[in-house]
Formats: sequence, C-alpha cells, structure tokens
Amino acid sequence: MSLTLRIDTDAWRAHLRRTADSIRGLVPVAKGNGYGFTLPRLVQEATLLDAPVLAVGIAEEVAVVRAAGWDRDVVVLTPWSPADGTALLADDRLIVTVSRLENLRALIAARPDARVILEVLTSMRRHGLAVSDLPRAAEIVGGSGLRLEGWTIHLPMVAHAEEARSLARAALDAANAPLWLSHLSVPDYDAIREEFEVKTHLRVGTALWLGAPATRRVVARVLDVHPVARGERVGYWQHRVPRAGYVVVVGGGTANGIAMEAPTSAHTVRQRGIALASGGMEALGLALSPYRIDGRKRFFVEPPHMQSSLVFLPSGAGVAIGDEIPVEARLTAVTFDSIEG
Ligand SMILES: *Cc1c(COP(=O)(O)O)cnc(C)c1O
Repeated sequence: MSLTLRIDTDAWRAHLRRTADSIRGLVPVAKGNGYGFTLPRLVQEATLLDAPVLAVGIAEEVAVVRAAGWDRDVVVLTPWSPADGTALLADDRLIVTVSRLENLRALIAARPDARVILEVLTSMRRHGLAVSDLPRAAEIVGGSGLRLEGWTIHLPMVAHAEEARSLARAALDAANAPLWLSHLSVPDYDAIREEFEVKTHLRVGTALWLGAPATRRVVARVLDVHPVARGERVGYWQHRVPRAGYVVVVGGGTANGIAMEAPTSAHTVRQRGIALASGGMEALGLALSPYRIDGRKRFFVEPPHMQSSLVFLPSGAGVAIGDEIPVEARLTAVTFDSIEG
C-alpha cells in the first residue's frame, strides 16, 4: 500500500457517463495497464456504461477481459496475423482487425466466417491496407464467408478530419460497411457521421479514462526519513549527498514503473551554470523524481529501487513517516500497489 491511485469514484463515473453520452457509437479502449486502472477495472466501468463493444490492444488481452467478466463483443485493435494463432477465433463475440491481404486469406483459411474489420493505412503509417488495395480486400471478403464489421481508420493525434473523410470515402466506395475511427474531436466525428450514411464508432481510451484529472490522485507513502550531513554517503551506490538534509524513502520503484526523468532542466552549459549558481541539484547530475514534497518535485538520490525510492530533501523542508505525498506519474506507465475508490 505504498503507491496508491485514489479515485473519486462518483466524480470519475460522472465524467465517464458524460463522455459516453456525448459520443454516439463510443467504443471504450481497454489495453495495456488499463490506463493505470487495470483491465478488470475498465471492464467493470465499461459494463456500467452499458457499452456494447470493448476494444483491446492485443490478442492476449482478450482472455484478460473475458476473465474479468466481459461477455459482449470485443475488437482486437492490433491486426490479426497467423502468429496470433487460431484458438482465439473460436469466440463468436470476437472481431479481429486485418491490415494485409495475405492475412485476410489466412483468416479465411483459419475461420471462414470470422468477424473482421479491415484497416485502412493512414498517415500514421502503422498498419493498414493501401487505398489501392481496398477494392481487392473488399472483393476477397465479399467472395468469402467472412462477416465484414467495418473499416477502421486510426488517425494520428494531430488528426485532420479531411484525411478521415477521404479515406472513409475510398473505403466506402470499395464496400459499404460501418466506420471505426479514433482521435477525432467530437465535432469532427459528428460531421463525419452526418456525411456518411453508415454506422460509425469512435474508439476512445485516454480522453475517456484519463479525461478528468481532478477525479484522481496518485500518492506515495513516506516509509522512512533519515537526516544526513553534507557529503555523507547513502544508498546502494553510496553517492554523497550534496547538502545537509534528509534522505526520504518513498513507496514506489521500478516494479511500479517509477523511472528517472532525464535532468532536462540543465541541458546547456549556461543552464548548468544557472543551476549551480542557484544551488540546483541538476548541476550535480541528479535526476528529478516524480515525487513532490513541500510543493516541489524532489531529486532522486540514486536510481529507484524495486519497490521504493530514495529522494533528497534539503533541510528546512518537512516531511514525516506516514505522510502521503503527491506523485506526478504517467498513468499508462505505472502499476499501482493499490487502487482506492
Ligand atoms: C490505443 C488506440 C486507441 C485509443 O487511443 P487513445 O489515444 O488512448 O484514445 C484507438 N484506436 C487504436 C487503433 C488504438 O490502438
């Protein structure tokens, strides 16, 4: 119970509800570490939202959301390839994505009536069929028993609605089927919904789960505090502390995804000079931690340990064992010891 995500559940759920109500055809995305909340928790929230379909990132996550109780449709976002195996395809509530013609043929061989979404290559250049291959893909699907669930267009974060429009037009010319989109503003998405007379879906992860930052707090427990004299050696690596102060042992370490940030504030010689002149610790090559004590992010004494970290607190600042201090963690990269709320 040393690195904790504390959720104001009522406020978070009100935000989730508002978001779901404002996006027709919303598909919640539950992948990776569940955006910090864990996949089972996102299954629980998607169930409360009464979402008809959930998107997962990779094939392996299907079993996780099923075990967590999700028994409705699941879309796997990473395109299916024979390397994912065929066992997965037995699930009739599963929809796979395909982004290559040869994998489309392999899918037909593996499960002739699989439910499939065809991915269109965007300026992201991640996965997808080239526009010139769309008619051929539609022809292969049309001549098979595959159930075409739609076209997917995964746009860059800096999405241009115009790109979505022109790719959607090309896809719908090849075969009339629902559109599955992402990373569009709600007004752009609504404009596309009106323009094309097909069913549309908008996949949302970050803006849904992480959209109301005030509804959560990440805190670490202060596990121990030791006064140290200037120049005293501390830690696994016996570095000398730069000044008199305290070594503060806080919850959370490498196992939680707590990482050293590059000491970005002192890139240049000039900045280093300024840091030195102001007694800044970045000048000494120490890395800033995500832990905040007395209103400031503090420096690591050394790289984080597995489940705790050592940070330096200069004399004058105060902290006590058992205090909870805020942590500026990136939720998609952190595993919490506990989630409350
Ligand atoms: C991750 C992902 C999303 C959701 O992205 P967010 O930025 O978290 O909303 C949507 N579509 C695809 C294909 C993805 O891989």
